[in-house]
Amino acid sequence: MRIGSGWDRHLLSADRPCRLGGVDFPDCPVGPVGHSDGDALVHAMIDALLGAAALGDIGRHFPDTDPQWRDVDSLDLLARTAALIAEAGWRIGNVDTTAILERPHLEPRIEDMRAALAAALDIEIARVSVKATRGEGVGPEGRGECVTARAVVLLIPTGEGGRES
Ligand SMILES: [Zn+2]
Repeated sequence: MRIGSGWDRHLLSADRPCRLGGVDFPDCPVGPVGHSDGDALVHAMIDALLGAAALGDIGRHFPDTDPQWRDVDSLDLLARTAALIAEAGWRIGNVDTTAILERPHLEPRIEDMRAALAAALDIEIARVSVKATRGEGVGPEGRGECVTARAVVLLIPTGEGGRES
């Protein structure tokens, strides 16, 4: 088996739509700044998946200098990453993510995020965990300036033709 970790952070700005964990928060007055939709939670998950398979990072596969990825739905990048992982001979055991932010309040949409992420990864919802915590007034997250996300993933070899366990 292989383990991977990911980390991402995006500034929050008043002139941006808010999308996190593949779910829209239309009532949120701020949204993540980014070349793509700025979905830090999905980006951390992509880096964890690529890291576990030793396939580099999100910037290598989806460079923000490439206009192809401008304003792209990060769930699309996640699905593409899942395909890369499968091609390399791995399947996902589980993914666990934590978002640190003041707003939007993620808790009411946690199940929607799990469903969206699991669908993009083409795995059971039971294998996808999303947690949210607040900055408690400390640091840039606590001041509401940014969203930070962490992810950990476990990959399992697909057996026939797969990598070593
Ligand atoms: Zn990002």
